[in-house]
Amino acid sequence: MSASSDWIARSEALFMPTYTRFPAVMVSGQGCRLTDVDGREYLDFLSGIAVCSLGHCHPAITAAIREQAGRLTHVSNLFHTMPQTELAELLISHCFADRVFLANSGAEANEAAIKLARKHSGPGRYEIISLAGSFHGRTLATVAATGQAKFHAGFEPLPEGFIHAPFGDARDIEALITPQTCGVLCEPVQGESGVRPLGRQYLEEIRALCDRHNLLLIFDEVQVGMGRTGTLFAYEQWGVVPDIITLAKALANGLPMGAMLAREKVAADFGPGTHASTFGGNPVASAAAVATMKIMLADGFLAEVSAKGKYLAGKLAEVASRHPDLASGVRGLGLIQALVLTEAAVPHGSAMVTALFKEGLLLNFAGNVALRCIPPLVVSRAEIDEMIAILDRVLTARPWQ
Ligand SMILES: *Cc1c(COP(=O)(O)O)cnc(C)c1O
Repeated sequence: MSASSDWIARSEALFMPTYTRFPAVMVSGQGCRLTDVDGREYLDFLSGIAVCSLGHCHPAITAAIREQAGRLTHVSNLFHTMPQTELAELLISHCFADRVFLANSGAEANEAAIKLARKHSGPGRYEIISLAGSFHGRTLATVAATGQAKFHAGFEPLPEGFIHAPFGDARDIEALITPQTCGVLCEPVQGESGVRPLGRQYLEEIRALCDRHNLLLIFDEVQVGMGRTGTLFAYEQWGVVPDIITLAKALANGLPMGAMLAREKVAADFGPGTHASTFGGNPVASAAAVATMKIMLADGFLAEVSAKGKYLAGKLAEVASRHPDLASGVRGLGLIQALVLTEAAVPHGSAMVTALFKEGLLLNFAGNVALRCIPPLVVSRAEIDEMIAILDRVLTARPWQ
């Protein structure tokens, strides 16, 4: 028995069977590479699902975590701490918002956004319209906001007040507005449902209808914020500014951290005692987030993300043109890119991911439609070339056939 099959057997006997995992026990990581317990190396184009954007064990983040862990790890939000204040300053000085609430995950950031939208909009206005295909988290409220029935099954009754509009036409959202509606929640680029950008026109129309009907526009940038698209926040790509934004995943490069931000006028309704989190803004996670943001904001970093994103998209388009029966095209923004599979190839999507895994490349099959590439933002062009070579080889060999 290899070390990994032993650990896998132990793990599978213990955990609730919520995850379908790759058969690997990861023990270390460096940059875009992971190593498992048997010493196998993997090229990571998943980044812990868009989390380790500066790569694994970035020395500056590791140093910040070590330093803060040796100084103060937790005091609760009954006190102020320096790392969380520094983080809030960095966030607020680079976006539209004036105030921040710190949480520990994407779902919690979205829960906070939903609660703030309801609190701000007053009694009787509590409905949130979100989009078909969206993903907003797994807590009861955020799963209710998630516009995919497969995530709801078996958990009914879900909390009230979440309405889903078909994807793609702002008039479908407008048609669902009632006197109870308080906001529209959407991802500027849908990540989990296969990397679907909403596009400038659609986003502008959603902004306009929120203004017309006095609704809060909430952008869930949990996956596409923090530099992923080539700007610090995805909304900067189009200049369509939300009223509330949520962040998590890459915010602390791997430590649990979420954030919900809004302008003063909206944030003012989250008064003392209205919302809280024991671990939210934890000093160690905050120190990691500060170090992460400083690197992302350094000269040239985000421009390189855009340039490498274009490079990756171009290479993926070549792959699509070499395998037209398997791939119909490429979509994405910056370093969230997806190879969209043809209808005929979709049934083999999971088998493709397994075959790529066996060749040492980590990708995933998102939304039952596309192979999603979300490499660390520090990925090199050479690593992109290496990834493309593996992908090409596997799509040529077609071991699933
Ligand atoms: C991952 C994700 C979430 C949920 O984040 P968790 O940290 O898993 O709770 C919410 N929204 C989007 C867009 C995501 O990609």
